[in-house]
Amino acid sequence: MNPPAVAEAVESKPLTAKDFKTSQEVRWCPGCGDYSILNQFQKVLADLGEPKENHVLVSGIGCSSRFPYYVDTYGIHSIHGRAPTIATGVKALRPGLTVWVITGDGDGFSIGGNHMMHLLRRNVNVKVLLFNNQIYGLTKGQYSPTSEVNKRTKSSPLGSIEAPLDPLNIALTSGASFVARTVDRDGAHLYKMLKRAAEHQGTAFVEIYQNCPVFNDGAFEHLTDKSRKAETVLYLEAGEPLVFGAERDKGITLDHALQPQIVAADDESVLVMNEQAPLVAQLIAELKHPDFPTPVGVFHAEERAVYEQELQARVGNDGRIPTDSLQSLLDAGDTWQVD
Ligand code: SF4
Ligand code: MG
Repeated sequence: MNPPAVAEAVESKPLTAKDFKTSQEVRWCPGCGDYSILNQFQKVLADLGEPKENHVLVSGIGCSSRFPYYVDTYGIHSIHGRAPTIATGVKALRPGLTVWVITGDGDGFSIGGNHMMHLLRRNVNVKVLLFNNQIYGLTKGQYSPTSEVNKRTKSSPLGSIEAPLDPLNIALTSGASFVARTVDRDGAHLYKMLKRAAEHQGTAFVEIYQNCPVFNDGAFEHLTDKSRKAETVLYLEAGEPLVFGAERDKGITLDHALQPQIVAADDESVLVMNEQAPLVAQLIAELKHPDFPTPVGVFHAEERAVYEQELQARVGNDGRIPTDSLQSLLDAGDTWQVD
């Protein structure tokens, strides 16, 4: 037996989704949307064809942040809200790795909101998967920054007062170069969005509406109920008009005040999806249920300078600032003595 030849044969065998499963017992509640996301994610990893050790999953704290235990790659279950900073460090020093941030609405936009914003503006080539279930699940059902107004929970027994954050609009206004939304129970669409995010060069932000059957069941039922979905979901396709409805007879336009309106699908003012128009994407992201169908798909995709490439170009391939340069920097003017 020749061990190196066997190792080569094993390495050249294409990976399957099963290869990305671990021996860990999956500890989410029965029916949780996280299961479907995990399944599609493992399929995408297999189809990307990269070795397992090329992937690093970085999570914060929350139900979704258990993800790294269940995917057979490198993984860091880190601290609350700080996955974007740790992922930035990993990618900056090891740009050849494919780095994923797994986070939730509380972890990503309350505890870690500030860190998220800076990851997005820097355009680090990291893929962010935001599991948005509009509630805190792990800590047993408190209202979160994406919960709707008047949400009654144990931490808001009189109903919440504040307006929810819109993760998509924060991503778009922070300068994310790829922004998409999908839904846990729409497996084919979820797969497509994860694959596109993986292939994008730069920060890719994907909001995944994720049902929490224990603390916020049915939050996205209008998007998954087959009898209603044609009227309540607007699929965004680059170059295609924004039309929806069981008969595909309705379209979305903007009026003179840039307010969205529903018109007949054959109206010449119906918007055509342009992934390179972030300002229009912000207006499309304002389409909210129940007045409008909920848009899913890619809102924005642009190629621009990637942070770690720019960094490497400045500091050299070993990722270190030459000692001489550092010393001269420390010795450069504007120093003072404190007596
Ligand atoms: Fe899923 Fe909700 Fe259970 Fe967390 S609490 S595992 S989000 S069902
Ligand atoms: Mg949550």
